[in-house]
Amino acid sequence: MFRGKNCRALNAMARPIHGIFLVASMGLCGRVFVHVHTFKSSVERVSLTRRWASDAKQPHAANVRGNFYVDHTCIDCDTCRWMAPETFGRTSHVAGGQSYVYEQPNEDQLDMAIRAMVSCPTGSIRTQSPERRTKEIIETFPLRVSNELPRVFHLGFHSAKSFGASSYFIPLSMPSGERLNIMFDSPRYSSKLAKLLDAAGGVDLMVMSHKDDVADHNKWKERFPSMRRVMHAADVRGPDAWPYIDMTGVEEQLDGKGPWILADGVKVLHTPGHSAGSITLILDGRVTGGDGAAFTGDHLAMNGRLGRLDGFARYSDDLDLQAESMRRLAEEDFLWILPGHGRRVRFASAQQRQAELRQAAAQYLSDPRGAQAPGPMFHVA
Ligand code: SF4
Repeated sequence: MFRGKNCRALNAMARPIHGIFLVASMGLCGRVFVHVHTFKSSVERVSLTRRWASDAKQPHAANVRGNFYVDHTCIDCDTCRWMAPETFGRTSHVAGGQSYVYEQPNEDQLDMAIRAMVSCPTGSIRTQSPERRTKEIIETFPLRVSNELPRVFHLGFHSAKSFGASSYFIPLSMPSGERLNIMFDSPRYSSKLAKLLDAAGGVDLMVMSHKDDVADHNKWKERFPSMRRVMHAADVRGPDAWPYIDMTGVEEQLDGKGPWILADGVKVLHTPGHSAGSITLILDGRVTGGDGAAFTGDHLAMNGRLGRLDGFARYSDDLDLQAESMRRLAEEDFLWILPGHGRRVRFASAQQRQAELRQAAAQYLSDPRGAQAPGPMFHVA
């Protein structure tokens, strides 16, 4: 760990990676030098790796003083920044591109800061002394997304196995009187969250957007044995293939191009591109109790850096296919995009949705990484 005011930018750059250690130092001229240090022995490797692991739990130097802080284990998933934007910002790329506390929460902001801490997939948000309201705040999950979506809830408890993706809960009463409680993508398994879901009637159906966001789906299945899981067969993997989470037990493996109607007002659309088996769940307004909503997984979201709808090209399997999926999605009936990663969107009208999704598809192909983009739009240290 590098100490001293000139070393803020360097700490996040010192990482043990596959037998080497990246070491950064700053010369008297103020220039940053990065050296590659190879381990001389396994003893040295273990010692340096342990030291890095304990140093990683120290507060990032960019945090402002106060009870909340972020340590160096942050994986930059963006969750805390969209959940509590008055508290958490992102450091510049050279300072590690991680979250930090740029302003301590006031009384009005405290609940959301605690929710962000509970949702952080890596436990990177900490407090110097315990926040006495944490237990009470945990019980506010699942958290209603918006008054315009009265039956759609954010589950919090993001998982590092899904790189911090959001998951959702939609408790439905069907016109027939039957209950259909849907979980969209898997949060990290938590017995506390499971009890809160018990109080809401349990989980009947888990729809998984694609192979990267399945997290603890097997543990949730053990906890709710009658729950049926749905995902596209093209993304089903065994434990030996990326992301090394067994999906072969998924009960409903969708085949072909769909669409699939799971219940009245509950539709699944095949939206390949990010991965071959990516699917989008579309709920109409009768189901959400308000606006129509599309749960897009990693297919499409508002990209905060670019300030536009985006498919995050660097993670895409097939850009053309993904752009085509965006064009098809434009013709569906919804106003909200609720993504796994990235920011939520609410369109003012169906016309705006169509226009913006078509434009997003075109931009995705002409400028997939946002070369012409204005740059970061969030608070940067
Ligand atoms: S939620 Fe945690 S991992 Fe994600 S950006 Fe915030 S501090 Fe980092």
